[in-house]
Amino acid sequence: MRVIFVVIDALPNRWVSEKWTPNLWEIAMNGGWSPKGGRAVLSTATYPNHASFVTGRDPSSHGIFVNRVWNGSEFIISSQIGPKGDTIFKAAKRAGVSSAAVVGDHNLIGVMGADHADVCWPHDGKRPDVPLDEFRYAADTSVLDAVDSTDLLEADFSFVHFNEPDTVCHMFGPDAMETRERIRKTDASLGTLVERSKPHWEDTVIIVVSDHDQEEVVEYGYDLADVFSQKGLPGVVENEGTCAVVVDGPDRNTLMSFDEIEGASILDDRHTLVWGKSGHIFGPWLEDFHGSHGSPRTSTQVAVVGGGHPKVNELANLISKERPSAVDWAWHINGLLELSLEN
Ligand SMILES: [Zn+2]
Repeated sequence: MRVIFVVIDALPNRWVSEKWTPNLWEIAMNGGWSPKGGRAVLSTATYPNHASFVTGRDPSSHGIFVNRVWNGSEFIISSQIGPKGDTIFKAAKRAGVSSAAVVGDHNLIGVMGADHADVCWPHDGKRPDVPLDEFRYAADTSVLDAVDSTDLLEADFSFVHFNEPDTVCHMFGPDAMETRERIRKTDASLGTLVERSKPHWEDTVIIVVSDHDQEEVVEYGYDLADVFSQKGLPGVVENEGTCAVVVDGPDRNTLMSFDEIEGASILDDRHTLVWGKSGHIFGPWLEDFHGSHGSPRTSTQVAVVGGGHPKVNELANLISKERPSAVDWAWHINGLLELSLEN
């Protein structure tokens, strides 16, 4: 049994189709999928969801609520801290199951604790010296090169992350024609990955997901931290696109009383997530950008399974009946590879 887990960053589930993602479509039609998509954890940012993919736990357990983590005195990038507790990489190592990870966004190595894999790329979790996308993350073609140079597909468990769709959704908006054209290119890279895994196909389960969707940016510049200081309220604020996370802040009713706040969700006893109207960005934003995420509106994930292994049917049945959550995948992988992931 080999498990390949692929994340296509920010791929909107509505573009999974024969037209825009023919390779992904073929995997889904021969295996299965969740037509309504999977469900992200909150916030709907890249790092909390990747930490949930590899731990099988919510942010309240692995500690990564937004891309940066409050360390008591400042927010620092979550790749410097990593997820609390067990991960699928650690569980694989304990079980003597080989694992490998190749990621377009180099920070994901730290975010997922992927340095516990037998092989990871970029091995130091720093920006590699390869062709990059517009946001200076490894281009999809560089990811494919690394799949080759690391022999990723020889591992029992391999993790692959393609970054480009997130970059283009931010730049052009999730529904723009430019975005869809680039999504088709990322899908071609997925097709190449599948082609290269064909020698072991009968033994393979491939899972393809996205971490979040995106929404069209309408307005930006709402400064919640400034509102707190004007009103003399406690709490620190981390802006994350169309949401913000408040640490040790006012209670939910107080937050909901602000005109700009449309919704609030308590994540744990210290963290509360707030969001505004559709497409409203917390904090400053770059004027030429058109897509963002963070609020529950962008919580739909892609959820596709395929491969030639007989177990594919079981998983396909499961996700076609009930929308999977980001925390479910680690437990499916745990079962498939007979690991002992700890909760
Ligand atoms: Zn993003």
